[in-house]
Amino acid sequence: MNGLRRKEYLAALGLKSWVLRAGAPAAQPRALLESALLESPLLDPARPASEAPAPLAALRESAFDWDQLRARVAACTRCGLNATRTQTVFGVGNLEAQWLIVGEAPGAEEDRQGEPFVGRAGQLLNSMLRAIGLAREEVYIANVLKCRPPGNRDPSENESAECLPYLERQIALLKPRILLAVGRIAAQNLLRTDVSLGRLRQQAHTFGISRVPLVATYHPAYLLRTPADKRKAWEDLKFAREVCARVQR
Ligand code: SF4
Repeated sequence: MNGLRRKEYLAALGLKSWVLRAGAPAAQPRALLESALLESPLLDPARPASEAPAPLAALRESAFDWDQLRARVAACTRCGLNATRTQTVFGVGNLEAQWLIVGEAPGAEEDRQGEPFVGRAGQLLNSMLRAIGLAREEVYIANVLKCRPPGNRDPSENESAECLPYLERQIALLKPRILLAVGRIAAQNLLRTDVSLGRLRQQAHTFGISRVPLVATYHPAYLLRTPADKRKAWEDLKFAREVCARVQR
């Protein structure tokens, strides 16, 4: 747990700080703190978010509905990327979608418009989806990170870890039939691996405890730079369509 998250937990308990007592085992205070939190009535998911104290609201996205989650993301300062973003890019699409497309992070145009996969990469994604019979309006599109890393650099490990719970809640709310991870960063973060995209594609993976089927393919921005790999992406999309067709909902 990083310092900021620890402060939020402590604030939720009405504590300013905790100090390790001499002689106490190092893991004990943290274990006690977390167990106290888990047992706290303040974490009752049935309790409306509006009744929760402000610091605690930051910890409860696992119980949020779409509107609460969107508001939480819009106000988020967890990893520090709020300092350089124009706006958050929450995600867009059909809330009944069977397909969830997940990219890495907003780029400059997405940061300006507040929508994922716009511009040339977005147009190519739309064409890729159309090729397998899907309109953009039929799917849901989101990123691992909701804020643009400056200069379009890769997200740091900490930024991904801090932001991923928002995507996890989006997945829990959407209950898609399939996740299509576009690009190495998205695939590696969702699968918690550093295996190359070349080895991850053309396999049916599953995501998290919900075990939603996941297929990985190339990012459209990469395909714009490397059009020779569009054929491989087409193979991946056909494979994903087959995987999706096998899923019982
Ligand atoms: S990238 Fe995610 S965790 Fe970081 S400030 Fe934006 S919404 Fe919060």
